Amino acid sequence: MRRSLLLSALLLALPALAHAQDGQRPEVTAAAQRLQAQVVEWRRDFHQHPELSNREARTSAEVAKRLRAMGLKPKTGIAHHGVVAIIEGGKPGPKIALRADMDALPVTEQTGLPFASKATDQYRGQTVGVMHACGHDAHTATLLGVAEALVSMKKDLPGQVMLIFQPAEEGAPPPEEGGAALMLKEGLFADFKPEAVFGLHVFSSVQAGQIAVRGGPLMAASDRFGIKVIGRQTHGSAPWNGVDPIVATADLVGTAQTIVSRRANLSKQPAVLTFGAINGGIRYNIIPDEVEMVGTIRTFRRRHAPADLRRPAQRGRAHGRRARCEGGDRHLRVGGATRPR
Ligand SMILES: [Zn+2]
Repeated sequence: MRRSLLLSALLLALPALAHAQDGQRPEVTAAAQRLQAQVVEWRRDFHQHPELSNREARTSAEVAKRLRAMGLKPKTGIAHHGVVAIIEGGKPGPKIALRADMDALPVTEQTGLPFASKATDQYRGQTVGVMHACGHDAHTATLLGVAEALVSMKKDLPGQVMLIFQPAEEGAPPPEEGGAALMLKEGLFADFKPEAVFGLHVFSSVQAGQIAVRGGPLMAASDRFGIKVIGRQTHGSAPWNGVDPIVATADLVGTAQTIVSRRANLSKQPAVLTFGAINGGIRYNIIPDEVEMVGTIRTFRRRHAPADLRRPAQRGRAHGRRARCEGGDRHLRVGGATRPR
């Protein structure tokens, strides 16, 4: 937690002052300094109690409790665990929103820090460690700090500021819905439509004490895909009697890399395609019935990559026979190939 993060968030929160230099707004600097220790404490508490997407019950309750302690009237239970509050400024001005994400990741913490997470939860049928490995603990604590600071200068605040504590930024576990999309679906902006929404993300490649901004897209869109390669089980000693989905999967993983390396125009649109998990088979000498894969595609323009992934997926072949591929997620379905004979 850096003082500059809180300060930067505060400056973002004050659009009328956004052009002003830090030094010209001494009350902003003073508020950031005053709240620094408190924000660090909040962040460490969130860090020690991380919760997976759509499971942010404690985080959400803590956020709501702290907002109430500031005299705000938070609305809870939006998109499961989302929390929203509005700070009414004492002067006329724009409506803006500030957003922080609250969920953690299925990662086991190995930092050895005194406030390290020991939490575990169920994820995709496995018991996993849970950790704020993406920094959403810092975002949540920072937005609480900004809220406290803005409340303290409410009478001079031009306009209204909506605080959005968003759950499930990392994506709701299928088949659940969640995150920003569900918040919007549940009418987040039905009564209060901000002119702009500001968010920030900690980033380990940015020098501590600095804030980085850029025109145009900065964070890529994230598409999640799931592919099921369906073959036909047989003994490992006689592969000709079945259809091997493992060989087809190996081919598919390699071929899918050419979507980015050969088909995407990387000078115009950067893209990333990653397989994050492959599950199939149980014994060394049995060719399984099916293999499941999940992965992610990151793009600035959602044009080519998801569609391109269907092509190699449909071509997954095993011994001249076609292994069938089925897609599995909200964003992408891979299907249409023939059934194995
Ligand atoms: Zn993140």
